[in-house]
Amino acid sequence: MIRKYSEKGLVKKKAKTEQTKLRHEMFEKHWQIKPHYCESCGSKLYGENKSYYHDHLLEKSKHPELDLEITNLYLVCEECHSKKTNGSPTLNHQMAIIRAEERLLTGEGETEKKEHNFYE
Ligand SMILES: [Zn+2]
Repeated sequence: MIRKYSEKGLVKKKAKTEQTKLRHEMFEKHWQIKPHYCESCGSKLYGENKSYYHDHLLEKSKHPELDLEITNLYLVCEECHSKKTNGSPTLNHQMAIIRAEERLLTGEGETEKKEHNFYE
């Protein structure tokens, strides 16, 4: 796999901060466009937006190119997120992961994908 970010520690750190900022902007958008229910178990999501409500269906460690892809996000409660993290997602969650894999294979949902310039 190709390393996207530069070797130099400082540049890498700056790029990472920018990446985190963009990710949180995407979480905010995701929170605005979806009803506040867990897509995995149907529980209502109370209160304000939290970063653990947003699950990367295809993990960003394995698919860094999908880190900022909103179609790769699943809105979930804390419990369903930790089930997924622990390797035992609900059936709904598993289905969503399979659909995300299919999208990746067919190239669907990649229209928004663009190169971000981290050095601006
Ligand atoms: Zn849930």
